[in-house]
Amino acid sequence: MKIESCLECVRCSKNYDINKIRYLCDCGGVLDVKHDLSAIDGKKLKQTWENRWGLKRGIESSGVWRYKELIFDAPDDKIVTRQEGNTRLYPAGKAGKYAGIKNFLLKHEGENPTGSFKDRGMTCGSTAAMVFGARCVACASTGNTSASMASYAATCGLKSVIFIPSGKIAYGKLAQALAYGGITLQIEGNFDDAMTLVQEVCSELNIYLLNSINPFRIEGQKAIGFEILQQLDWNVPDWFVIPGGNLGNNSALSKGLQELYTLGIINKIPRIAVIQAEGANPLYSMWKNGSPFKAVKDPDTIATAIKIGNPVSWEKSLRGIAWTNGVVEQVTEQEIMDAKAMVDAAGIGAEPASCCSVAGAKKLVESGVISPDASVVGILTGNVLKDPDAVIGYHKDELRDKGIKGTFANKPFNIKANLAAVKEALS
Ligand SMILES: *Cc1c(COP(=O)(O)O)cnc(C)c1O
Ligand SMILES: [Zn+2]
Repeated sequence: MKIESCLECVRCSKNYDINKIRYLCDCGGVLDVKHDLSAIDGKKLKQTWENRWGLKRGIESSGVWRYKELIFDAPDDKIVTRQEGNTRLYPAGKAGKYAGIKNFLLKHEGENPTGSFKDRGMTCGSTAAMVFGARCVACASTGNTSASMASYAATCGLKSVIFIPSGKIAYGKLAQALAYGGITLQIEGNFDDAMTLVQEVCSELNIYLLNSINPFRIEGQKAIGFEILQQLDWNVPDWFVIPGGNLGNNSALSKGLQELYTLGIINKIPRIAVIQAEGANPLYSMWKNGSPFKAVKDPDTIATAIKIGNPVSWEKSLRGIAWTNGVVEQVTEQEIMDAKAMVDAAGIGAEPASCCSVAGAKKLVESGVISPDASVVGILTGNVLKDPDAVIGYHKDELRDKGIKGTFANKPFNIKANLAAVKEALS
């Protein structure tokens, strides 16, 4: 089943040829991959996807390319995949009690090949790079995009160049970028500076840009929603709760849901709650106050994956919030880390930014926006091992200089190597 697609500007609706590299409209707006859904039979498509569930090998065993009809059209020999997706959907356990929600599930995107949902975007971004015949790819990153890009580039023989804010990304992520062989440029400045620079570099040096401004990445990330719904036998939950940084992921989620709804594959659209950190909250400010978009100058949060003041996808994000009757909430540093302690103590574990989903859900229950009886799916975006410093800092209660208390700290003990000392420690 082949579908006609083009690139379409989110701001002015101008269309562009999908076979030519382009990231922005002439008007400056970001672009969507726009599919012509009119030729698709939703019922048949759903059955096709059901038939692929559990495939052991091949492109369609990927949790992204399983849904290839709604991703984009690429020849099989150009598809770069690591069987990404196929992540678990856990009952939230302790974290559900903490949030005050009975029917709370957590979709663990930290179980992707490089430990974050970025792999769903990167299988598509690197495939697009192959289709376009690129030799080198680049991204600005708070860490996970670079880890993912370096890995996917390595698997298909592309050179990768990474722009990261110097000293500001979590150790696990930096380690991955280096390990997978990405050329790593630590720039003086924050993520937003890196993002501006990489766009200039890519257009000057003819390098293919793999940030979420790249419309093909968004197509892959849509599959998070598809997969959750398939895991729920297409029973639609009331809410999806998701962290927001550069705002590509929530844009992807809403775009995918909109497409499923148009095709009649789902009969209602869940509401989306986008959660930002208080110190990096441009979408929240704008949504709350109905004010025009204004970047946050010096964004700051322990959730480094969302420490972004000037998100490229804010227009797509707002559109998705309108489509889904969604909301935006913000959470404090303390709320993020306490929620993380609960996600971790539930035996699930995730990096700080991910736990905005739980912190935000709790807050929205407390303010009466989400009913305690609602069915809610929180998205955990990254793996617990990405940021060991944050975990250990919290549990040793050593984050006070950042204004964070170790409320649920599980401190390690240093003891002598004898039975008496063990007995004392266990008492
Ligand atoms: C990238 C990332 C985010 C933010 O996603 P956006 O698409 O930039 O909003 C959140 N959490 C983790 C772990 C990430 O890697
Ligand atoms: Zn435009």
